[in-house]
Amino acid sequence: MEHCCHGSQNMFREVGQRGVALIVRLNFEGDPRVALQSRGVDFDEIPVLESSPVREFSINVACEIGVRFCPFCGSRFEDVIRRNLELYLDLAKTHEKYRLGPFETKKPGQSDDGRS
Ligand SMILES: [Zn+2]
Repeated sequence: MEHCCHGSQNMFREVGQRGVALIVRLNFEGDPRVALQSRGVDFDEIPVLESSPVREFSINVACEIGVRFCPFCGSRFEDVIRRNLELYLDLAKTHEKYRLGPFETKKPGQSDDGRS
């Protein structure tokens, strides 16, 4: 298996759909990293939501948080990625349109508060 387990394999396929998924994205160094992503609305339905006249409530359309370990089997993603680098680079390309904001705000040589 190219992923650490069936649980993560299934979650990588859920990207862009309503619910929880695992997404692969590149950090500033171009290395694939994994994040857990939650979507309240399917990616393809966001334009419908945005054109809705109803604006009287707040909704969390999507959010994500980086994860270092598989939530199913506990494998360290850095090790899994290293063993299957091409696969994860391809996944990062496929997942590109679903990613949210900056993954790692700290660039090389930058301090933790974001200043250079
Ligand atoms: Zn796993």
